[in-house]
Amino acid sequence: MSDSKVNMVAPPEGVVGEGFFATKLNDVVGLARANSLWPLPFATSCCGIEFMATMASHYDLARFGSERVSFSPRQADMLLVMGTISKKMGPILRQVYEQMAEPRWVIAVGACASSGGIFDTYSVLQGIDKIIPVDVYVPGCPPRPEQIVDGVMRLQDLVKSESVRRRSSPEYQELLASYNIS
Ligand code: SF4
Repeated sequence: MSDSKVNMVAPPEGVVGEGFFATKLNDVVGLARANSLWPLPFATSCCGIEFMATMASHYDLARFGSERVSFSPRQADMLLVMGTISKKMGPILRQVYEQMAEPRWVIAVGACASSGGIFDTYSVLQGIDKIIPVDVYVPGCPPRPEQIVDGVMRLQDLVKSESVRRRSSPEYQELLASYNIS
C-alpha cells in the first residue's frame, strides 16, 4: 500500500477569522483554474512522446489537476503544441486554437514548436507564435518530462495571477487583433 502523503493546495491570501475566510474573487477563480487545466495535446513528432511519459504514472501530470486530456478543442483550455509544425499544418493549428473557448492558454513544447528548432527550412514554421499567441515556451530538443511539468507549473503561476477581466481588456483584444483573430 502506498504511504504517499496527499498535499493540499495552499489557499489564496485573505482574512481569516473564526468561522469565516475572506479573499478576492480573482484569487479564488485563478486558483480553481490553475489546478484544473485540461490539456489538448497537439503532437506532430518526437516531443509528443515526451508528453506521453509526462502523462504516465512516473511523472503523472494528474498531480496538477491535468489528468483529463481532451482531443476536442471545445473541452480543453491548455493547448500543448509538441513537435515540428510545417507551414502547411499552420492553418489547422490555428483553427484548433480558434475552436477553444476563452480562457485558453498555449504552451510551446520544445525547440521546434518554439522556434522551428533545427529545421530552418522553407517548409517549417519558425515558431508557433507566428500564428497564435504563446504563454509559455519550454526549451529542449526534446525537453524531458520534468521540463514539460515545469512549463505547466509556470503556466499555473500565470493563470493564478490572471485577472478574471483580462480577456475583455483592450490589451488582450489588441493581442488577438495582431494575430487577426476575432
Ligand atoms: S524539438 Fe527536437 S525532439 Fe522536439 S519535435 Fe523538434 S526535433 Fe523532435
